Amino acid sequence: MNVNRLNSIEELLNQQAEFFSHKIDSLAFAICMDKIDPLAKFQDKFHIPTVSDVLEGVGIDKNALKNNTESDDTAIYFNGNSLGLQSKLSEEYLNSEMEKWAKWGSIGYFKSRSQNDLMWSRSEDHLKEGCADLIGAKKDDVACLNSVTVNLHLLFISFYRPTKERFMILMEDKAFPSDFYAVESQIRLKGYDPKHTLICLKPREGEHCLRNDDIIENIKNLGNKIALVFLSSVHYYTGALLDMETITTAGKIMGCYVGWNLTHGIGNVKMNINDWNVDFAIWSSYKYLNGGPGCIAGMYVNEKYKHNDFPKLLGWFGHKYETRFIMNNVFDPEPSPDIYKISNSPALYVSLLRASLKIFQEATMDKIVEKSYLLTGYLYYLLKTSSFYKKYFEIITPEDPSKRGNQLSILFNSFLDVKMIYKELTNNGVVCDIREPNVIRIAPAPLYNTFRQVYRFCFILSNILVKTQK
Ligand SMILES: *Cc1c(COP(=O)(O)O)cnc(C)c1O
Repeated sequence: MNVNRLNSIEELLNQQAEFFSHKIDSLAFAICMDKIDPLAKFQDKFHIPTVSDVLEGVGIDKNALKNNTESDDTAIYFNGNSLGLQSKLSEEYLNSEMEKWAKWGSIGYFKSRSQNDLMWSRSEDHLKEGCADLIGAKKDDVACLNSVTVNLHLLFISFYRPTKERFMILMEDKAFPSDFYAVESQIRLKGYDPKHTLICLKPREGEHCLRNDDIIENIKNLGNKIALVFLSSVHYYTGALLDMETITTAGKIMGCYVGWNLTHGIGNVKMNINDWNVDFAIWSSYKYLNGGPGCIAGMYVNEKYKHNDFPKLLGWFGHKYETRFIMNNVFDPEPSPDIYKISNSPALYVSLLRASLKIFQEATMDKIVEKSYLLTGYLYYLLKTSSFYKKYFEIITPEDPSKRGNQLSILFNSFLDVKMIYKELTNNGVVCDIREPNVIRIAPAPLYNTFRQVYRFCFILSNILVKTQK
């Protein structure tokens, strides 16, 4: 299937429906779509929870429930935007590292025992290429280390150097809380007051997503005073994808540094941050990348800053590998973002992410994005044509697939009890999340979710809303 016209997903789905001779809103159609899905074979590479697993997790006695869902069915796990599922390969790689630790102890720092484990002293080197491919960067401009917020702090220490003339930071209103706290604290650390320093752009009255044009307008107007533009590629709450290239260019023209949080973009949308001249970026690996809870995060620093003398916090793993273990206390920096590595590598997390990146490499972002357009496009279509659309809920994520990733954020009318809807979804084996005050985020992941699950989700939601009506 060739998805080249981004705006015609609905047309494409309709063509397929005609070809299959099934109505687009029928279970038979969803089953046919799964049959021709080139990524279908990847489902088996993951541990997919069952409905019973989910009920056990939330502490519900399945016998007390009266619903149509068989508890042996696989759950509908639409929460990969929060924590991706576990791959079988990551379990295998982790076990190999555990085994090496058990058998070899410290010998494992400088040797690997099989193909499934890495020498711990520089294991994260093996992650660079896979991460770089996902974001459109060069391998040497990428490092894997720490967690997202820590990386934000480390890079703000280098890139946020306010002066009397240029001291502002531009970010989005409702940025992810950790980003907001970190940025505020960085401003205070430099002796400024966030009240006069931090610009948080709000969507227009009555709208939910920031417009690219409004961001660019603000950069043009305030650019001379802005030290740093820091935004999210895909917004965690609305699921909207910004025009990263145009915004970066606008910021660079005005002489600002431009950094991106790619946490909801990596493994979800295609990016070319090297060509776009981005200054720096950070991301996590436990959401769309399926690295596992708390898994090692990443950063990108544009190669033009390779030999920069910006302020930094240093540690022994930022010392060049070749001479690191001579330990003569003369710091010889890694000529890459590896200089930001402070402590030794979390080799067990590295093994998890390594497995995950291998799966992404095999699947390719082209195929992932192509399926994402169709799968989330199908979800959008079914929701939009539901009799409850606009009456009980709306979708605040843009419909145009080039302006979002795979997540749709459903905003329920305030007269509905969203917590009850969420609870009912869970009772039926749907794993998703609720964001205050009344948004439920649904993120079908192309690697392990199916059209049939999208269909079932809409069917379950519809039944819940019918009940609500009574
Ligand atoms: C998930 C997420 C984080 C969390 O970062 P950690 O420091 O790794 O816990 C930060 N920012 C954004 C935008 C996120 O989506």
